[in-house]
Amino acid sequence: MTLALGCIADDYTGASDLANTLTRCGLRTVQTIGVPSEDLALPEVDAVVVSLKSRSIEAGLAVTRSRAAEKWLRGRGAGHVLFKICSTFDSTDAGNIGPVMDALRADSGDAIVLVTPAFPETGRTVYQGNLFVGSVPLNESPLKDHPLNPMHDSNLVRVLTRQSKTKAGLVDLADIARGPEAVRARLADLSGKGIGAAIADAVFEPDLETIGAVALDHRVSVGASGLGLGLARALVASHRVKSNAPNAISNAPVGGPAACLAGSCSQATLRQIANAERAMPVLHLDAEQVVTGKAEAKRALAWARERLKEGPILIASSSTPDQVTALQARHGRDAAGHAIEQAMADIAEGLVQSGVRRLVVAGGETSGAVVDRLGIPGFLVGAEIAAGVPVLRAVGAKDGEMLLALKSGNFGGPEFFSDALKLMR
Ligand code: ADP
Repeated sequence: MTLALGCIADDYTGASDLANTLTRCGLRTVQTIGVPSEDLALPEVDAVVVSLKSRSIEAGLAVTRSRAAEKWLRGRGAGHVLFKICSTFDSTDAGNIGPVMDALRADSGDAIVLVTPAFPETGRTVYQGNLFVGSVPLNESPLKDHPLNPMHDSNLVRVLTRQSKTKAGLVDLADIARGPEAVRARLADLSGKGIGAAIADAVFEPDLETIGAVALDHRVSVGASGLGLGLARALVASHRVKSNAPNAISNAPVGGPAACLAGSCSQATLRQIANAERAMPVLHLDAEQVVTGKAEAKRALAWARERLKEGPILIASSSTPDQVTALQARHGRDAAGHAIEQAMADIAEGLVQSGVRRLVVAGGETSGAVVDRLGIPGFLVGAEIAAGVPVLRAVGAKDGEMLLALKSGNFGGPEFFSDALKLMR
């Protein structure tokens, strides 16, 4: 198998977003959790997204992990590697976008790297090198108050120059609008001046298609899911990849018992749980008991085992904001959250041991804890249940064939749990 596109994502949810975008563009895509082992068996796919947690760690560590991911992807034949960053360019002057880009550029031998976080469908656009979040420049958006990466400068040419070894330049919208040849000429001009990175303006999706087509001349690019879309469309347009239906390789039924877990306390999830009560048995965990011991998770598993043969079940720790605040006041926010996440992971592990092969999980952190515990190395991305939430087929999992749906808090329609199970046969 030769990968048409390799991707390194600096966080898990960004990786899922990218994998979903690539799949929508017709690429058969696997998302891995961390750098896979050398011998991970993969079905025939066009793209692999390696998910790292490297956005806010020390820059040297981010470089080491990204390089390991790149090595794995090149080993599977990836000619082009996209370093996937956040569409709000989350970083500090210490990194990690610049240092990782520098390292990947050095490894690839490219003279210059195209960089754009633009993703117009989510309101991220770049003009004259300035990143806009909706109608406001980045430095006036809520990102100015981000707890880890406060963004105080919307000019990405300056931001990237401060954090990388090379100077950054600009490919402006006028060049992009003139098409790939004009962009190539501009890049040659910049690299002739010793500039090693180019922020590319992009306001509309066709701009990303132009950037994607030119980026494929190179070994490395840096961007958000928008650039993923540009690269994927360019691969399909140039017949380097045959467009595949999103579920073409992930449609075979898995069967077996189905279960849902909810650890998200978002409004959307609370409503989805209330609606699920009409479709399946629902167990509401006693959160106080969960935080203070293991007995509640055992009770939940016993409850589930009695019912799994009859049809899907749902186990939820979720509660209303008042109850969440009260529990956090008693135990501390992090301790309460962590204890509940681990209990959900215990329950997921027990459910899989009891034969569950179709598992729906609501909550970003909750999903991370469950996936880590189940030791699933990767997922094949399938049909979309709701915007941004695809059916996932476990790849290389020790427990064999399995389907998952992982949803962060506010995603999905009111009948999300039933909608998910309908597509997870
Ligand atoms: P979301 O995607 O909605 O943010 P997460 O799973 O990421 O959901 O986060 C929800 C957090 O709330 C997790 O840490 C989870 O363990 C915690 N949690 C779940 N139920 C409760 C509860 N009843 N009280 C307090 N915290 C809870």
